[in-house]
Amino acid sequence: MDTLTVRDIAVQGKRVLVRVDFNVPMENGVITDDTRIRAALPTIQYLREQGARVVLASHLGRPKGERAPELSLLPVRDRLAQLLQAPVEFCEDAVDPQALARTRELRDGAVLLLENVRYYKGEESNDPELAALFAQLADVYVNDAFGAAHRAHATTEGVARLLPSAAGLLMERELSVMGAALSTPARPFAAIIGGAKVSDKIRVIKNLLTKVDALLIGGGMANTFLLAQGYRTGKSLVEADKTDLARGLLSLAAETGKRLLLPVDLVVAKRFAADAPSRVVALDEIQDDDMALDIGPQTIRLYADEIARSRTIIWNGPMGVFEMEQFAIGTSAVAQAVADVQGVTIIGGGDSVAAVEKAGLAERMTHISTGGGASLEFLEGRQLPGVAALQAKGGGNL
Ligand code: ADP
Ligand code: MG
Repeated sequence: MDTLTVRDIAVQGKRVLVRVDFNVPMENGVITDDTRIRAALPTIQYLREQGARVVLASHLGRPKGERAPELSLLPVRDRLAQLLQAPVEFCEDAVDPQALARTRELRDGAVLLLENVRYYKGEESNDPELAALFAQLADVYVNDAFGAAHRAHATTEGVARLLPSAAGLLMERELSVMGAALSTPARPFAAIIGGAKVSDKIRVIKNLLTKVDALLIGGGMANTFLLAQGYRTGKSLVEADKTDLARGLLSLAAETGKRLLLPVDLVVAKRFAADAPSRVVALDEIQDDDMALDIGPQTIRLYADEIARSRTIIWNGPMGVFEMEQFAIGTSAVAQAVADVQGVTIIGGGDSVAAVEKAGLAERMTHISTGGGASLEFLEGRQLPGVAALQAKGGGNL
């Protein structure tokens, strides 16, 4: 990785502004999943051990520049203090002169959490004045919010340009594991792409096709490829205006000698419902009132064999409507096959991660990305603004 990391910089006695991703799911003020808080602990602990004065900044939800009490980070402060087993101070107004005073009073190893940065209008517009106010709160900036790195906001991008800056440990892991898989993968290298629509993932498919040996397509997006090949797709989710694009991707695969695998059978139902009677059909047996909601058993076998032979796997997007038990079979089977791989396995994308967790297989993957949108953009081969703004190794000015 060519970005400086927190381990490359001196932080003892310094105020370090750490952009974290504490955008946790909450119900009635109670955190329902603290994975993202836990994911930031290594960087916070490292900084405390080094004697840094830690100032944490995060967004929560979309308050759109207004103070929304239900999106306060106070519950996160409490949870973080519990996890750290140390006090965590809280600052209700990050841009008040008082905030500056409070950062100056911090002792080595202390932690201060700022209130939701999206309470300020300038955050999402990357307002230089707001970025400058955040920059005053610290001597050094560390970005550990991989999940927000695809956004150029004041606390993810603007402030990084105003202070000596580096990647946190979580950010480093995300970039190095996914970066290595894309640049120097152990082969065979297979990507599994699923989810609802082709249009969401065209750029990912295009970029991955240049890197992988095999590309396995499932989920709703497979229907568009099948339609492009002349099969009838009934009432299935399909993007009829994207068949040219699907054909383009199929020829790109053929021209570059990549194997692009499509389902050979499907699970269909007449209704989009958990209790709808379903049946397994061959591709030419789909009726006009059928909806394809999962890959079929032959496809599972085909994909599982391909996965078992691979030494690097990147998976984004479920194979079916996994939210409904009877259409989760393809996704669970693929999750199991990926978990059994002797090699590097990477899961990116909110719903794919949820599916792997639901199957109880998260521990068996090499890497579960903490950033849905960010991991997608990374796999598209794009520079993430929050990463591009950090100092490069050998770049000087510390
Ligand atoms: P990720 O979050 O992992 O990137 P997406 O958001 O692209 O995945 O897609 C997930 C959604 O796709 C799920 O809600 C799932 O129900 C839906 N989906 C998968 N297969 C189908 C299908 N055959 N028909 C309709 N929706 C599907
Ligand atoms: Mg999703």
